[in-house]
Amino acid sequence: AQLTSAEADEIERAAEAALRPRRLAEFVGQRVVRDQLSLVLEAALARRRPPDHVLLAGGPGLGKTTLAMIVASEVGAALRLTSGPAIQHAGDLAAILSSVQENDVLFIDEIHRLARPAEEMLYLAMEDFRVDVVVGKGAGATAIPLALPPFTVVGATTRAGLLPAPLRDRFGFTGYLDFYEVAELEQVLERSARLLRAELTPAAGAEIASRSRGTPRIANRLLRRVQDWAQVRGSGVADVDAARAALEVFEVDERGLDRLDRGVLRALCVRFRGGPVGLGTLAVAVGEEPETVETVAEPFLVREGLIARTPRGRVATAEAWAHLGLEPPAPPDT
Ligand code: ATP
Repeated sequence: AQLTSAEADEIERAAEAALRPRRLAEFVGQRVVRDQLSLVLEAALARRRPPDHVLLAGGPGLGKTTLAMIVASEVGAALRLTSGPAIQHAGDLAAILSSVQENDVLFIDEIHRLARPAEEMLYLAMEDFRVDVVVGKGAGATAIPLALPPFTVVGATTRAGLLPAPLRDRFGFTGYLDFYEVAELEQVLERSARLLRAELTPAAGAEIASRSRGTPRIANRLLRRVQDWAQVRGSGVADVDAARAALEVFEVDERGLDRLDRGVLRALCVRFRGGPVGLGTLAVAVGEEPETVETVAEPFLVREGLIARTPRGRVATAEAWAHLGLEPPAPPDT
């Protein structure tokens, strides 16, 4: 029977959860954020107080949820998960906050997408450990202040700049997660292969790592596809041939660009003659939300030197044309 896409997503999520490091010492790379966190967590443990609120900023799949879980497990606290888009009304947040227990870690994913009234309620709760619960409706409504036990908010956002300053200021520090080095991804893959009982050769690990867009989630996902290929079409060993063949099946090119990345590059070069073109226009051309193009595809393409952001919009670099195997247009006559 065919899997529905919801079932397939569920399987991917479960596979991902199984590979999550549980302790800070197991977390690969991101040395700066790791140092910052270990200091804050150790100090909190010594003071027997919940750690300061932490904001984590970085692209999808770089480890924000994993770090939030690590914060909770390192201080022995319970973790509660929610997200900006899941909180539609301030009342939803009031309900969550009023059930928070002492020392809990409340993880709010996509915190930049909280609605304004919820945001205001949140920073009051973060600063004063207090929430106003509104009882009744209309003219008869009254706000009953409720004291909250000390707890820790861990917020995650793809761009810290999207958060309003008053909310940003409530966090004790912001950890910025960057793309991982290839060698770090090799370590992630080696650990994952061990957990999955997959036989991954070092050369195959290096091949997958260099084509994972600097992102552990992608590395782990590609590892599972390579393992699939090895089992079904290969010798069972995830070697370099299996890696190359599987990556070809899943349309990941030698530089790690996937369908969306190449779609963006192609639209920029072919449709818009190399730009400059605005983000919104580019997103429409590839049939994606501007936020997806901006947070998923663009940071990697910029880091790879394939596109550049200018005040007038996105432009393709000479490397972009070369990567697509196209000739850049001749410069206009002067
Ligand atoms: P999103 O915001 O899109 O949910 P995220 O930043 O929260 O992404 P995670 O869900 O934490 O990303 O990580 C994705 C996967 O990558 C997890 O399965 C986790 O095991 C793995 N991973 C992330 N960072 C690391 C790391 N530093 N070391 C080992 N594995 C990691």
